[in-house]
Amino acid sequence: MDHRLSPELDELRRTVAAFAHDVVAPTIGDLYERHEFPYEIVREMGRMGLFGLPFPEEYGGMGGDYLALGVALEELARVDSSVAITLEAGVSLGAMPVHLFGTEEQKRTWLPKLCSGEVLGAFGLTEPDGGSDAGATRTTARLDETRGEWVINGTKCFITNSGTDITGLVTVTAVTGRKPDGSPRISAIIVPSGTPGFTVAPPYSKVGWNASDTRELSFDDVRVPAANLLGEEGRGYAQFLRILDEGRIAIAALATGLAQGCVDESVRYAKERHAFGRPIGANQAVQFKIADMEMKAHTARLAWRDAASRLVAGEPFKKEAALAKLYSSTVAVDNARDATQIHGGYGFMNEYPVARMWRDSKILEIGEGTSEVQRMLIARELGLVS
Ligand SMILES: Cc1cc2nc3c(=O)[nH]c(=O)nc-3n(C[C@H](O)[C@H](O)[C@H](O)COP(=O)(O)OP(=O)(O)OC[C@H]3O[C@@H](n4cnc5c(N)ncnc54)[C@H](O)[C@@H]3O)c2cc1C
Repeated sequence: MDHRLSPELDELRRTVAAFAHDVVAPTIGDLYERHEFPYEIVREMGRMGLFGLPFPEEYGGMGGDYLALGVALEELARVDSSVAITLEAGVSLGAMPVHLFGTEEQKRTWLPKLCSGEVLGAFGLTEPDGGSDAGATRTTARLDETRGEWVINGTKCFITNSGTDITGLVTVTAVTGRKPDGSPRISAIIVPSGTPGFTVAPPYSKVGWNASDTRELSFDDVRVPAANLLGEEGRGYAQFLRILDEGRIAIAALATGLAQGCVDESVRYAKERHAFGRPIGANQAVQFKIADMEMKAHTARLAWRDAASRLVAGEPFKKEAALAKLYSSTVAVDNARDATQIHGGYGFMNEYPVARMWRDSKILEIGEGTSEVQRMLIARELGLVS
């Protein structure tokens, strides 16, 4: 498999890299420190078509695929992860469920707005008592047949893009019944922002991703039309697992970008910073550290592109997506730690991008399936789990 980019994808890569350098880099540090959502950057990404990258043109998309999305995410995360996760969650978690499982009417209603970035969608799976064990959903949805409405009750936590001024919907999983063996039937339902009884908490105070929006959501007798069911009743959990399989490739691309950004910053700093009368980069100890960082970023890139290529080709990709997510998030944390070390005391100062990368790296081993969950998936694919 050739993992070099086609001329079109390389053009996309250069365009996004220039945007990240010229537009994101000069402003994101201040927004991050003030914990402000980057509305103007998001608007511009919408104008560039980034939110529509993997969606068909008939719904306002760019007609691309997951490789294109990964390329864009990698270049954004090379500069900043809050911006990259806003795009990742908007596309992979917000819009993709509508694209993959929506009715024609749901697609026509939501996709053009989601693809333009005018509206953000969110994905509400995690609950206070169930993250890795997402099947333990406690949120319920009861069909009120006389009024033709779902009545939703429950709480979701840590939901990205769920409380911005431009958030338009959250797709939530909820128990809609029981199977004969007593296990829950979980379905996915679209809840538009502003529906009565749907409350969005203030943003969390987070370690990193400080310019990204993350909230707790509560649903108190929230009523939405029966037609807001996304996909089949009782298939919501399986649908969300499919979304997460794909999303892992996007997170892996994002993690690769962060790992590569650490190399960029370290190379620059190692040439500039002098100690003992010469650049710190003249020391083999520093050179070797950076060489190892480059090796890890490069290998992570091969891993996510391999998983994305399989997805795009319609081949099985579950194991490769988990491998890519596990490896790239591990090396993102490694590289962020090493880049901070190379920057000495300045690496601990928030004004330096590596400090932001260090704070932003840890979540990559947790979100969209922890590293332990990736290992469980890989072991299952290897036939080690019955
Ligand atoms: C900033 C941020 C943004 C997020 N965005 C979203 C979003 O948009 N939508 C959404 O639905 N969720 C979102 N999440 C939730 C995220 O996906 C979960 O936090 C993650 O899946 C882990 O779940 P948990 O926090 O409940 O941890 P737990 O599941 O409680 O896990 C705790 C620890 O136990 C380990 N563990 C659990 N079970 C096992 C096992 N069987 N074997 C070995 N180890 C195990 C885990 O790996 C972990 O180390 C977000 C989280 C954060 C922090």
